[in-house]
Amino acid sequence: MSRTFIIKIFLVLLFCINGTLSGHILAQIPYAKYFTGQSLRIDYLLSGNATETKLTLDQYKIEPFWGGPEENLLSPFKYGEFRIEVYDKETGELIFKKGFSTLFQEWQTTAEAKLMSRSFYQVNRIPFPRNTILLKILKRETDKTYVTLLETNLDPGNYFILNEKPLSFPVEVIRENGDPSHKVDLVFLPEGYTSEEMQDFRDDVVRLTDSLFSFSPYKDMKSSFNVRAVMAPSEESGTDNPGEGVYKNTIMNFSYYTFDLARYLTSKDVRSIRDVAGNVPYDHIVVLINAESYGGGGIFNHYSASTSDNYLSPIVMVHEMGHGFAGLGDEYYTSDVAYEEFYKLDEEPWEPNLTTLVDFSSKWESMLEKTTPVPTPNTSEYANTIGAFEGGGYVPKGVYRPYPDCIMKSNAPSGFCPVCQEAIRKMILYYCGEE
Ligand SMILES: [Zn+2]
Repeated sequence: MSRTFIIKIFLVLLFCINGTLSGHILAQIPYAKYFTGQSLRIDYLLSGNATETKLTLDQYKIEPFWGGPEENLLSPFKYGEFRIEVYDKETGELIFKKGFSTLFQEWQTTAEAKLMSRSFYQVNRIPFPRNTILLKILKRETDKTYVTLLETNLDPGNYFILNEKPLSFPVEVIRENGDPSHKVDLVFLPEGYTSEEMQDFRDDVVRLTDSLFSFSPYKDMKSSFNVRAVMAPSEESGTDNPGEGVYKNTIMNFSYYTFDLARYLTSKDVRSIRDVAGNVPYDHIVVLINAESYGGGGIFNHYSASTSDNYLSPIVMVHEMGHGFAGLGDEYYTSDVAYEEFYKLDEEPWEPNLTTLVDFSSKWESMLEKTTPVPTPNTSEYANTIGAFEGGGYVPKGVYRPYPDCIMKSNAPSGFCPVCQEAIRKMILYYCGEE
């Protein structure tokens, strides 16, 4: 073998190794180069009506913890009605990207939004930047287009970024499995539990997380989670229920009758929710409301909420986390909702478990057996089959779901359908910094 030939082989090998390595490195943003271990909180108001959206900045705040991940800083998920993007000002490089949804956008699809304007408080968090950034917040217009609501430079040394001691409360560690940057960090917050009821809250977190970890894929990936509870008491026990004339002084101001729908239990006081959550590193907020009536709500990368003491709470919380944590859509279509035309039937929705068949190949089409017809008849022949069953996303026609039943469809299923399980599994891996 000639010496030149050996050198050539060596060079080819070197190129291959180098090419592979740099390809991998290029796909990941080096966290420590751009970010510290803290968080930057961006607070603003979204206001408008059915057709207009305006973003008004309120405050920036530094928070002590970033729950991670330190990898996957550019989220691979095209989920959510909004997106936050962070660019390094000097190089123009995109260094952080994440989708999210809001209660405001849901309200925009109600009848009231055609008659008046309203505003909703909104908070996003990003890892705290080391250098000046260009910050963008965008709203989805169609399946593929976004409009920019905010575009601003931010110097991390700006002295208007609030750097005060957070409102502090005792923290109970319910499950601890490792470094927050490589685990999913769930923070449970108590709404309407008085200081005498803090032990009840802790017991409720244990009971409801036991339910969560009894369903696949959570069941098989338990060790990927840290669970913490912030022991923040309310003045009064319970929560607001305007339809029954009940008003309680509580720490995070949750209320039934969101959009005049009795069971829809949310809070617009996102500022208080985030102030309490800031006590710990977290990836997702789950609020337990100390009440017996059926109710809850979940908004993608915003929060999940459920009452704690209804006999269905162990399923409701898991369903709401399907929305809040994993970006899943509702597969039901027979219950009353406040929304009008929530999904446009001529566009593919972004939720991974719903399709209008406009772009089915971008969804779970590859999980179907070749012999399964699309749409799939809702008959006993296809009872345990992945398909495209008509009815989902609040409408009986034009929106299709992957399976006859699922936790995202009803309160009495055997678990998540295979498509939802896969979507949740991918979200867990994302927060653990894995592919
Ligand atoms: Zn499902």
